[in-house]
Amino acid sequence: MRPPGPAPAAPTFGTAPANVHMGQPNQPPGAPLNPYAPQQPGQPPLFAPPAPPQGNHGRSVAIFCVVFSLIVGLGAFTVGFAIDGGATGNIGAAAIPSPGPDDPPEVRAAYLSAKAQVALDDHSNALLIDDEAGWLEIFDDRLHDDMSQQFSSLRNLEVSQYDYTIQGDPREVNDGEWEFRLAVSYCFGGVIGEECADAAIVFDTVWEDASDGLIINQVEDSDEAGPRPWEVEDIRAVSGDKVIVATPAKYSDQLEEALPEAEAAAENADQYAVYGEVEKYIVYLAGNAEFSSWYGLDGASMDNVVGFAMPVPVLDDDGRLTSGGYEVVMHIDRVRDSLEFRSTMRHELGHVATLHHSGDHYPVPEDWWMVEGIAEVIDHDPSVGLEDYLRKRDVQAYVDQKLWNGELEAVYNSDDALTGSAKYGIAMYAVYYLFNEYGKDKFMDLFERVARNGEDAEAATQAAYGMSYDDLVAECADFIESLT
Ligand SMILES: [Zn+2]
Repeated sequence: MRPPGPAPAAPTFGTAPANVHMGQPNQPPGAPLNPYAPQQPGQPPLFAPPAPPQGNHGRSVAIFCVVFSLIVGLGAFTVGFAIDGGATGNIGAAAIPSPGPDDPPEVRAAYLSAKAQVALDDHSNALLIDDEAGWLEIFDDRLHDDMSQQFSSLRNLEVSQYDYTIQGDPREVNDGEWEFRLAVSYCFGGVIGEECADAAIVFDTVWEDASDGLIINQVEDSDEAGPRPWEVEDIRAVSGDKVIVATPAKYSDQLEEALPEAEAAAENADQYAVYGEVEKYIVYLAGNAEFSSWYGLDGASMDNVVGFAMPVPVLDDDGRLTSGGYEVVMHIDRVRDSLEFRSTMRHELGHVATLHHSGDHYPVPEDWWMVEGIAEVIDHDPSVGLEDYLRKRDVQAYVDQKLWNGELEAVYNSDDALTGSAKYGIAMYAVYYLFNEYGKDKFMDLFERVARNGEDAEAATQAAYGMSYDDLVAECADFIESLT
């Protein structure tokens, strides 16, 4: 990532909300910190605001992006229970027998679920066939303005799948009013009716069981990596073969310029998507307000972050949330020139290509340099010499000032701008060395084991390189010292 202008920005991971899918909050006691994941609310940020650049080494290539970690499979998602077996969308409304007055509450709940699922299927079908009136039919009139905006945002994002499942049983919250927790699996930019790499949201709704049918009269924002931009903004979008670039209407004049950069970055990143194809890269352009409110980041310390890659969950066959792909958000005001924009885009899409659909795991401390190093290498290109590498001067200064301890260390909250940038640069050099010395395949094997699956770094290094982790780091360190 690049700094937003002359005064370098530093990464300020920090006080993220207690979204359970993100890194630290669900770490067991004693678990290693994941330096690129946000921490619990109330904790100090992992990254302090940067010190101004010192000396004459020019503009520090400041940082950084945030790669949020998706930690699942260990109770991290709060809604990981199976879909209620009573809900099915495969029967017509007329076929659902009404409960009698003496039936127990669970019979009524099952009846309402079945009826709601039928209505939801009609509702989502209306979206896919561009029938706005049909989409709105399920909502109380008071919601029509918001849901009309959501309809057009989803259409602009080329929605190609929008499947509802009801999570658990509905709960009666008032007389005649029922709360349903809903999940939606959606795809953008695919072909309707064909399989696609979906993402999921889950959110609460309140329905009124009125005499003329079930009506939704309350819709909450989604709460697992939510709200997504299209839930809360009037989204405009442009698309190419590989990327959909989207933004709130007020920034829509930026879209045409961003698309070719994003397409080129995606084509570049695709070379590293060795763990599975990224069907569509989703990139949002955001200003200040959106940057720290989408994806549950309200309250997170994002003041100096210029972009982030956010994992978005998917629903598995049992209706449980599990790890899925990544969506990217770029801060349009902080990426001030085309070089920064291009570089940031290439770095972020590099994260998407290498991390999407990772296994569910807790991160290990050693994966920071692999994750950021590969993203830097993807941006720079491993076949290109290092003479013009943007952080070269920062690494040089860091080594010259004897600040480097020879390790491949993550960035910490106490790091100033030079240290932060140099650590990114050192991570890049390490991955660059491993690519050029041992080939891409071995590194991608190591990356899969450690960064994607959370395997022990020692065992993974032995398996991928036939040497100890310490020896691998020492080799990388020798290379870095030879450059400086
Ligand atoms: Zn990054």
